Amino acid sequence: MRSLLEVNNLEAGYGRVSVLKDISLKVEAGTIVTVIGPNGAGKTTLLNALAGLLDVGGGTVSLEGSDITRHDTEDRIYQGMGLVTEQRNLFSTMTVQDNLWLGAFSRRGRAGRDELVEEAYRLFPRLRERKLQTAGTLSGGERQMLALGRAFLARPRLLMLDEPSLGLAPLVVRDTLETVGRLRDQGISVLLVEQNARAALKVADYGYVLENGAISLQGPASDLLTNPAVAASYLGGS
Ligand code: ATP
Repeated sequence: MRSLLEVNNLEAGYGRVSVLKDISLKVEAGTIVTVIGPNGAGKTTLLNALAGLLDVGGGTVSLEGSDITRHDTEDRIYQGMGLVTEQRNLFSTMTVQDNLWLGAFSRRGRAGRDELVEEAYRLFPRLRERKLQTAGTLSGGERQMLALGRAFLARPRLLMLDEPSLGLAPLVVRDTLETVGRLRDQGISVLLVEQNARAALKVADYGYVLENGAISLQGPASDLLTNPAVAASYLGGS
């Protein structure tokens, strides 16, 4: 079966600084795949390379069987990729509703957009309660939910999330990652980069451990959760 995303022997970095070394990974349609690893392992670099924001030194990236290694970011978005960065990129002086409305750009006409925004409210009821509040006044968890809601409205086939739990309190982390599970239920496949390994592995189907720019371990998420090496390095107390 053809994978939604297939990365083979990817090398990437910044100018002459090489960060990613021989990365191969897959995301099957309808699944959540997580990449866990310590600070500085190259997780953000990986998402940036997959989004076409960095020059790739070697290897290939294919989306639904077509080679997109040399495609620019705009092309990748048209082909069904979405990216939520650590900065979330919300418009902080605009309301929740207007931020969502902007995310629904793929739909023409007011009625179509209203319908899409309504779907986002059904999926994230908390956003409906806050719809007239400006994004800058939301809590960290609500902001993250808004970023996920807006990404959902663009209807990507593959949504890449860079540390959605960053800066959130433990209970909010769980809520946020459950939300990622709801996106999968809506048919959106997810590549989830996380430092919070336990929470990410609980929601994911499959996982990769990234260390020093290379994949050191991979397997079904439930296996990684009980793997002693993963537990010793990444699950302590989280
Ligand atoms: P974190 O969880 O702390 O965000 P990460 O796993 O996402 O870490 P990256 O941000 O991808 O790691 O960084 C990987 C390596 O690339 C680090 O050594 C970092 O210093 C380096 N790096 C990141 N951005 C740049 C840049 N613009 N120019 C040069 N080196 C960079």
